[in-house]
Amino acid sequence: MKDILYLVIPCYNEEEVLHVTAKKLLVKINNMVEDELISKDSKILFVNDGSKDNTWSIIKELHKQNDIFSGINLSRNRGHQNALLAGLMTAKEIADVTISLDADLQDDVDVIDKFVEQYYSGSDVVYGVRSSRETDTFFKRTTALTFYKLMSTLGVDMVYNHADYRLMSKRALEGLSEFKEVNLFLRGIVPLVGYKSSIVEYERHERFAGESKYPLKKMITFALDGITSLSIKPIRIITGLGFLIFFFSFIALAYTFLVKFFGKTVTGWTSLTLSIWLIGGIQLLSLGVIGEYIGKIYNETKQRPRFIISDKLISKENSNL
Ligand code: UDP
Ligand code: MG
Repeated sequence: MKDILYLVIPCYNEEEVLHVTAKKLLVKINNMVEDELISKDSKILFVNDGSKDNTWSIIKELHKQNDIFSGINLSRNRGHQNALLAGLMTAKEIADVTISLDADLQDDVDVIDKFVEQYYSGSDVVYGVRSSRETDTFFKRTTALTFYKLMSTLGVDMVYNHADYRLMSKRALEGLSEFKEVNLFLRGIVPLVGYKSSIVEYERHERFAGESKYPLKKMITFALDGITSLSIKPIRIITGLGFLIFFFSFIALAYTFLVKFFGKTVTGWTSLTLSIWLIGGIQLLSLGVIGEYIGKIYNETKQRPRFIISDKLISKENSNL
């Protein structure tokens, strides 16, 4: 008896790509079932993240045609990470192993076999890692690189060039479900779950239709969330900066005394204005960073649900949902 695989696909306004994606994934799953790599109860689980277009009706239609296509509908748009978590937590109850991927199939589906092979040879987590970033714009490439570098300097354990294309076993998902944080940054949390992991390299294609659902603003928020959810180093840096400035103020004090006793007392305007700007800037920045963390605490203490599922389309015979 082979293991049940669930492909989990978060979808937000993906009506343009969904049919093609569904067809490709169906072929893939069928081939794998034929090759006896996975159980015939394996499924493709779409998570509709509060789309404003026809995404959910397409999912319903696909499910009607073939119940290998399953779906869950979130009560509203909660963002990629939450949608993914909703899918994974639902799949965890039925599947032995899950693979998460994007609806636009930018991640090469042909390496799914390799993921599953790694799983059978003992990995609980398999990270899909992009072998190159040629299909990205120069801007996305540099910002992504800077982000990964920054994260590793801040002491966050993250797999380089890995997005959310990843396999997770049932027990890894159970581990993940113990992480109750509301500010989700899965790429940073999954390594904390532990267990044996491995890497599979793949080429990332361009989106074949539709637009990226990650505009610059969302990307910046995502990066900031990632940093502040996983590292307290920025606060330490501020403390360090405080000490440094305190130290310099002693030197400045000595300097003013020297100037006073040796004559040139009229000067001082430049240094005064400069220090007002400098100190003011540093204070504002520090307040901002600390505020960011307090905001995080505020969100975490409220313990709001990370997602609410309004409908589920998963065939009954092999589920108790
Ligand atoms: N997505 C989502 N909710 C959102 C934004 C995006 O579920 O609020 C999904 C989207 O449908 C896609 C995946 O997350 O399947 C990644 O989004 P996208 O391909 O637009 O990001 P990019 O590849 O450009 O980083
Ligand atoms: Mg994409």
